[in-house]
Amino acid sequence: MSEKRMPVVFSGHGSPMLALEDTEVTHGLHGIGKKIIEKHGKPKAILSVSAHWYTKGTYVQSAAEPRQVYDMYGFPKELYDFRYPVKGSPELSERVCSLLGDKVSVNDGWGIDHGSWTVLCHMFPEADIPVVQLSVDASITAEKMYEIGELLAPLRDEGYLIFASGNTVHNLRRVEWDNPDGSRETLEFNETVIRLVENRDDKGIMNYSAIPHASYAVPTPEHFLPLIYMLGAAEGEKPEVFNNHSELGAIAMTGFAFGL
Ligand code: ZN
Repeated sequence: MSEKRMPVVFSGHGSPMLALEDTEVTHGLHGIGKKIIEKHGKPKAILSVSAHWYTKGTYVQSAAEPRQVYDMYGFPKELYDFRYPVKGSPELSERVCSLLGDKVSVNDGWGIDHGSWTVLCHMFPEADIPVVQLSVDASITAEKMYEIGELLAPLRDEGYLIFASGNTVHNLRRVEWDNPDGSRETLEFNETVIRLVENRDDKGIMNYSAIPHASYAVPTPEHFLPLIYMLGAAEGEKPEVFNNHSELGAIAMTGFAFGL
């Protein structure tokens, strides 16, 4: 039986090489995508809040044929040859504008960036579900981001998947190349975040800078903030935690699926 209301998903992404990998993490992503389609049907389109579109002001894309953005440097050629050729959805873009009103503007100066495509290519490998990105707004408070999530929640009843890509722990300056696991700080911070999300202590998440090791785990906020939008859209539902895996010392790949 398919349930009409679409889930809300936050996923870690880490290194863009994720797109080319075949690991437990990519299998975890594949499993989440498969479960969404099995239980809820194929989403009409995906609204993706990516850490890599961090802007002053809230923007949404409207292009019918968005470009794929290769917003990373120094990786092997095969990553730049990788295509995830999704279409946009002007219809979803219009719905976002009508739900958010003057809180959002249309902006097609960007495209589908690696925050979105390195994860969605594993969740939905057919690339047959349109994607529209919404930016992470650097100029508003966590409470306002949460409120945007709440305002977007009706999209779930219209067959749209609300999705975000970031990381609960993301500190490139503290990466340990020979560490396949997380550092003590990473593991502790990530576990606290999981506990807060499981308990739906949304205020505790919005106040993440008070969590021990926050300055290590979230040295800049853009990878953490997409989670706050998702909590707003998830309206009190308990999460399914997936890919509770840390790597390179300072990256946590943890994902949360709400209403799955
Ligand atoms: Zn990233």
